[in-house]
Amino acid sequence: MIEPNDLNSLLNLMPGDHPYLTVCLQAMVAHDGRRHYHTFLKSAVGRQEKELAHDRLRLPEFLATMERVNAYLEEQLEEETQGIALYAWEPADFFQAFQLPVPLENFFRLAPKPCLLPLARAITGQSRYCVAAVSLDQARFWSIYLRQVTDARSLADESFLKRVQVGGWSQMRFQRHHEYHVERFLKDVARELQSFWNAERAQHLILLGHEPALSDFQRELPLALKHRLALVDHGSPEENQATILHRLEPLFRERDEAILQEIQQRLAGHYQAVAGLQEVLPALQQGRLGKLALSADLQLEGGQCSTCSSLTDSPEGTCPLCGGPIQAVDLLEEIVQEALRQNVHLHFVKQYPHRRELHRHGGLAGVLRF
Ligand SMILES: [Zn+2]
Repeated sequence: MIEPNDLNSLLNLMPGDHPYLTVCLQAMVAHDGRRHYHTFLKSAVGRQEKELAHDRLRLPEFLATMERVNAYLEEQLEEETQGIALYAWEPADFFQAFQLPVPLENFFRLAPKPCLLPLARAITGQSRYCVAAVSLDQARFWSIYLRQVTDARSLADESFLKRVQVGGWSQMRFQRHHEYHVERFLKDVARELQSFWNAERAQHLILLGHEPALSDFQRELPLALKHRLALVDHGSPEENQATILHRLEPLFRERDEAILQEIQQRLAGHYQAVAGLQEVLPALQQGRLGKLALSADLQLEGGQCSTCSSLTDSPEGTCPLCGGPIQAVDLLEEIVQEALRQNVHLHFVKQYPHRRELHRHGGLAGVLRF
């Protein structure tokens, strides 16, 4: 599974003696049981070959890289993979591949450094959720990342069946005995949940159950976990993964809304917020940006000073800071890389009504750190 740290390790690769090939593929298995990225890949490779036709050094290097890429795609894809990101340059023995449980857009570029935008769009701002479903004698935990269950654990109170079958006890004595066992079981569950939570490095907790187990269990929950409760709802440890994921959809959707609401409120109050490229770009370059919301369909072309590396919305001319020459760049790619470098919280807004909202500000807006 890909981690946000993987983006940082790609980010730290310095442009050097050789280029990097970035290939991202939409790899969902279609109704016919096949993946359909081949047409895209074939034409992208054809275009690249044509471009390198007279480069006697790079062309064979590129072809060798593609050989390795193709071998990987033929042999290594896992069934549940929906998106593939490959970063490669064979002569330098550089090859990194990521298979994602979410689709990526098709993308192909040979550039002095790896292109992170398609991958960042898919994985930044995604939280890890932990779902715990409890009853009086059973519990189940799921860890969810990138809208996929990545781990699960089940617990059962094995003495439960035996206890309810015990005959000859007075009702009261049985009741006391039963309550004692339930409490002990729920304490065990809370302890196990804490260790599962730590191991999965989860950020939000969702609790499912029915009364009285739901309330009893919340009393046993460690304080640190109580503070991370995102949702408490009716449910059972016997629910399957598909139902669990379906129930989380509203939570995933709310995230777009929450970040936009924060930006809107700050903009309205003129309090530590910026909107549009003219405001976002200087704030980013001064290191003042804390959060950045970008419309998922945004594209920006611009320039970068070849002397001091500062970014500008113009693809040509001279640098307003140092007078150096400006070179055309994929401005959004550069903005995203700079934001990742500065640990800015990136959020790509995917839902249509929220995206439209953001486009009123040119597709990007942010919250300042200071
Ligand atoms: Zn400059």
